[in-house]
Amino acid sequence: MAIVLSGKELSEQLTQEQKQRVASLVKEGIHPGLAVILVGEDAASQIYVRNKGLACETIGIHSVTIRLDEGISQEDLEGKIQELNEDPKISGILVQLPLPKHLDEEAALSCILPQKDVDGFHIMNAGKLFTGQKAVTPCTPKGVMYMLKQAEIDLVGKEAVIIGRSNIVGKPAAMLLLNEHCTVTILHSRTKNLAEHTRRADVLIAAIGKAKFVTADMVKPGAVVVDVGINRVNGKVVGDVDYEEVEKVAGYITPVPGGVGKMTISMLMENTIEAACAQAR
Ligand code: NAP
Repeated sequence: MAIVLSGKELSEQLTQEQKQRVASLVKEGIHPGLAVILVGEDAASQIYVRNKGLACETIGIHSVTIRLDEGISQEDLEGKIQELNEDPKISGILVQLPLPKHLDEEAALSCILPQKDVDGFHIMNAGKLFTGQKAVTPCTPKGVMYMLKQAEIDLVGKEAVIIGRSNIVGKPAAMLLLNEHCTVTILHSRTKNLAEHTRRADVLIAAIGKAKFVTADMVKPGAVVVDVGINRVNGKVVGDVDYEEVEKVAGYITPVPGGVGKMTISMLMENTIEAACAQAR
């Protein structure tokens, strides 16, 4: 049976550390602040935004949620981002994705000052990550790396296989694993003989968005399996990995819920605290 890598436990520990860190920063006159922009009424986005606000409250980070009308123009959205760029109480800005179809996500994200881009999606931060410079790292892959580090998993020279090539998970995860000296393969919807690749993986990251996509026969015995997926099936949240079957084969596995999702929020808090410190310097 695989060892379970619990994001819940790790995030609870981090919350305690972050609480203390923020309290001492506030004494030094540095008060981290996060602004979350939510456009429209998307149900899942509302839940994510609420959870981010609650996390800020627990840790002592000043937080504001800016709710904008579904029909807002690109110009007005970018105007709002500019206001937050200039607001000294705000150290981090996050635009909750996806945006309604008529809005240009890339253009909106590029309006955020790179030093306030706590999601790490700005082209400047992405470019820095891809060229090995210090950058704000996207929260989900940063959380995955944190979990692997805490479990003291040796990554040097290991075969890492990532299913999914999105800008927010798959690609940055590949870069972070490459930085840790893994040999990295990225798979996607056009990959041929997908299971041949996954069966080679010492570290397998699933970031697809398809419930129970990764089955036991796709996993090398003893592999580290990280499930990033969040899928709702019959009112239940399940990952991209068939957990019940894969845990019998894998060496390590992350559960859903209680795995990577928890770490994503913790890393958002981390990025916001780091942004506040960098801006104070
Ligand atoms: P995305 O942008 O939709 O990307 C999904 C990727 O999966 C794409 O690269 C796609 O390939 C690939 N894919 C789809 N079907 C495939 C197939 N049959 N075989 C191989 N590859 C396939 O999704 P995302 O934003 O990266 O998110 C992925 C999952 O993680 C979702 O469930 C999302 O909800 C979840 N997520 C969780 C967190 C968290 O905090 N835990 C954070 C972010 C996302 P193509 O590029 O060829 O289309």
